[in-house]
Amino acid sequence: MKKGTSASAGIGIGKVVIIEEAELIIPNHTTADVEGELARFRDAVEKSVKDVSALAADMAERIGEKEAEILNGHLMLLQDPMLTDGVENEIKTSGTCSEAAIESVFNMYADMFASMDDELMQQRATDMRDIKTRVQKKLLGIESVNVSALPYGSVILAEDLTPSITAGINPANVTGIVTELGGKTSHTAILARALEIPAVVAVGGIMKEVKNGDDIVLDGESGIVIVNPQKEVLAEYEAKKEKYLKEKKELEKFIGMPTVTKDGVSVELVANIGKPEDVDKVLQYDGEGIGLFRTEFLFMDRTSMPTEEEQFEAYRKVAVAMNGKPVIIRTLDIGGDKEIPYMGLKKDENPFLGYRAIRFCLDRKEDVYKPQLRALLRASAYGNIKIMIPLVTCIEEYREAKALIEELKAELDAQNIAYNKNIPVGIMVETAAASLIADIFAKEVDFFSIGTNDLTQYTMSVDRGNDKISYLYSTLNPAVLRSIQRIISCAREAGIMVGMCGEAASDPLMIPLLLAFGLNEFSMSASALLSSRKLICGYDSKELQSVANKAMSFATEAEVRAFMTEFVACR
Ligand code: PEP
Ligand code: MG
Repeated sequence: MKKGTSASAGIGIGKVVIIEEAELIIPNHTTADVEGELARFRDAVEKSVKDVSALAADMAERIGEKEAEILNGHLMLLQDPMLTDGVENEIKTSGTCSEAAIESVFNMYADMFASMDDELMQQRATDMRDIKTRVQKKLLGIESVNVSALPYGSVILAEDLTPSITAGINPANVTGIVTELGGKTSHTAILARALEIPAVVAVGGIMKEVKNGDDIVLDGESGIVIVNPQKEVLAEYEAKKEKYLKEKKELEKFIGMPTVTKDGVSVELVANIGKPEDVDKVLQYDGEGIGLFRTEFLFMDRTSMPTEEEQFEAYRKVAVAMNGKPVIIRTLDIGGDKEIPYMGLKKDENPFLGYRAIRFCLDRKEDVYKPQLRALLRASAYGNIKIMIPLVTCIEEYREAKALIEELKAELDAQNIAYNKNIPVGIMVETAAASLIADIFAKEVDFFSIGTNDLTQYTMSVDRGNDKISYLYSTLNPAVLRSIQRIISCAREAGIMVGMCGEAASDPLMIPLLLAFGLNEFSMSASALLSSRKLICGYDSKELQSVANKAMSFATEAEVRAFMTEFVACR
């Protein structure tokens, strides 16, 4: 048995098919016919562009626009003058053959991206190598691996899969994907989720243990992979697979149902997104709006800031797609674990306590904050947009942002540009300070959204990414629960909407408590919407009051967890 990182849910059972890309032998000679070599290179790029365009069009039709975006990104890179001019210059100045020139230029940029801390930038390095191999193969006349015709029950095993290969997979026949490398947010993992193929990545040493035709089972939830399982183990996984598929099917019943408790308390069940394309999944799983649009993703995976116009288009797209349903857009939240190299931010000594989010934006009004706020205001003419400010610790920050918004509104009025004059402006309550003065904030802001990911970190003084102290990182800790309860009650007292967009909003152990506390809105990843709706619809909020009272009487996280686990299991 081996364990890797779960990348796409579900149980995969089948026969191993090893996908190995032949190692390319890159020629490294020079040529006197520079013009001829340039023509050879341009021809290979042109043919590659054609192939990738066809693959992207097929992907958009078979799977979705969002997934095709990954390949469209490849197309942009293929035609990026930074790369093509770089290769042509190399050919012109040293007469190197195209294959070697591509190798050196693409590797230089790929190495640069790979060395960055940011996972998205590292993904860009993988994309660059994928494109490099594609063009080199064209030059060398080598065909790419074709996975579209694999027989039913194939489980693909590879050291790593490029998005180009993954895009060609037929999900009707491939029952699982296992890779030795890769991460949860790699493009291959994203595609596997979109294709709904169970996948486990980063399974160290797996390639040495398998051969073609071996039996294999994988659990996309726990990350477990078993090669040539015993009969009983196989039967156990077959039963698990059946249960998983049955539960998935059952959840579809909840599409189109209102999110109301048994005693008639309605709550809003909305989703967290990072890019406009994520809206497809939200609509598929019947999200009632967007509770958190993390705009920093628009700023990542690129080499310069998106313009006001680009941002406007992105926000407008989401507002239009959600068709009047609420869309809460959070202003730029960078710093901490979210770095954007071109912003030129120095590494803080304590990044989570440092120059980030609203602190950074108020310091960079002209080049960063104003263009974003203007884009948001302009997009508000096209739907139900609300602006949300992250990492607020004192009321002055809110007032300063609000004043800036008013200034921009006056500017838009003068220019006769449409926007929603009553656009709500709220805050994320995610710092201990904001929680302690939630009563003060509630009198001034239009809504709260509790960011438990950070609230837990700041309340417990525990770095949210540090494994060694993760035992302290729990919303079930009495200190965090008290904070959440207080924030909700301050909001309700002042009559403003209070939601939650941290991970706790979809935690089955937290949902009963949040309902009892009176939370109005639950925001989560699209894939958690239906199971959360099922849970919420099964509770009676009045009955939950005594459960919450009991949970709040414990002194330790372990007691709260044990009590809530038992309560949920007994239902
Ligand atoms: C949070 O802190 O709970 C939150 C939703 O924001 P992020 O995870 O982006 O910091
Ligand atoms: Mg946060």
